[in-house]
Amino acid sequence: MKKLSIYIHIPFCIRKCNYCDFLSFGVGDKCIEGIGVYRKRYIDALCAEIKSYKIVSEEYRIATIFIGGGTPSILMSGELSRIMVAVRETFRLDKDIEVTIETNPGTITEEKAREYIGCGINRISIGLQSANDEELAMLGRVHNYDQFLAAFNIAREAGFRNINIDIMAALPGQSVHSYLDTLEKVLKCRPEHISSYSLIVEEDTPLASNEALLALLPDEEEERKMYDATDKVLSLAGYQRYEISNYAKPGFECEHNKVYWTLGEYIGIGIGAASFFKGRRFSNTKDIRKYVQVFAEHGEYERIEEIRNIDEELTADRLMEEYMFLGLRMTEGVSAAQFNEHFGHSIYDIYGRVIEKYVKSGYLINDGGIIKLSKRGIDVSNRILADFLLD
Ligand code: SF4
Repeated sequence: MKKLSIYIHIPFCIRKCNYCDFLSFGVGDKCIEGIGVYRKRYIDALCAEIKSYKIVSEEYRIATIFIGGGTPSILMSGELSRIMVAVRETFRLDKDIEVTIETNPGTITEEKAREYIGCGINRISIGLQSANDEELAMLGRVHNYDQFLAAFNIAREAGFRNINIDIMAALPGQSVHSYLDTLEKVLKCRPEHISSYSLIVEEDTPLASNEALLALLPDEEEERKMYDATDKVLSLAGYQRYEISNYAKPGFECEHNKVYWTLGEYIGIGIGAASFFKGRRFSNTKDIRKYVQVFAEHGEYERIEEIRNIDEELTADRLMEEYMFLGLRMTEGVSAAQFNEHFGHSIYDIYGRVIEKYVKSGYLINDGGIIKLSKRGIDVSNRILADFLLD
């Protein structure tokens, strides 16, 4: 049986953060008043969409599940269990499946954490972003640092042995010192996994139009210092960087992310969720009303195509580009032999010139057919990866 991963999107948050352009709704936001009433119907629709895959379930075994958002931990008691029951009724799950839930402090309770464990969720990701309460307020986060600590302890005590903490660098007004303080506080919790991404100012977010905050963004040099510090501090503490922004204790890399990065097959459930399945890339409608309505009117299996948009039939060139982009972001790099196996072409026929150029200049390493970014290469990865675009 082939392996398949599942992403399940829960698009509800307590309130939108200032920098967020994800597909999520603040259930308390006035502008989308009433969206909260969709929660229960949305869960019904998710379960129906999961069951719509029954038709292909004989071919696949589920290796990883990622319940993301939004804020999945906003769901009420019993709702996540319903989703997991639908998955089990539809698919066969790997014995050592990784099932992750994304959560935010302030929305996790002991009862919910026990429910997660009880329904088979074995990895929890907690969005801290910063241990500095002023920075959290500036980001529009709904929680403070103490609430994060409480959430972390609840997760540990409930039995989670695989916890990720998300943090952010390059925040407006953030000094290197303040970022290091966040890193240290995170390390004290001894999570198994840490993700650190630099803040990106996305168009049409409140942050993008807040001149005062934009003026406080750290300059490139400060950002570089935070980036370098992350690697140093976390390596010393026993974490291995396995992707540009992701660090893990040995044996705790996020298997679900690695499926994306190695072009494994996955299906996305819920609004806006993307899939890469049977050589096609497609995504669901972003319209929650339509999504919920299709499943309410047509039952479990019918007319599911109404909610799906085929983005593209991927050409071999696009797949090879993605394979290189994603593979080179991982510290284990790209195996020439696996590339050949995957595409039926030698990697050197396709990328020989660009590989040679960057190996010579010291930005890439070719270690017996394993091609990866050097330390210098990681620092300028965007520039190098752009050279792997095929005309
Ligand atoms: S909690 Fe996450 S998904 Fe929700 S608004 Fe904030 S950044 Fe966006």
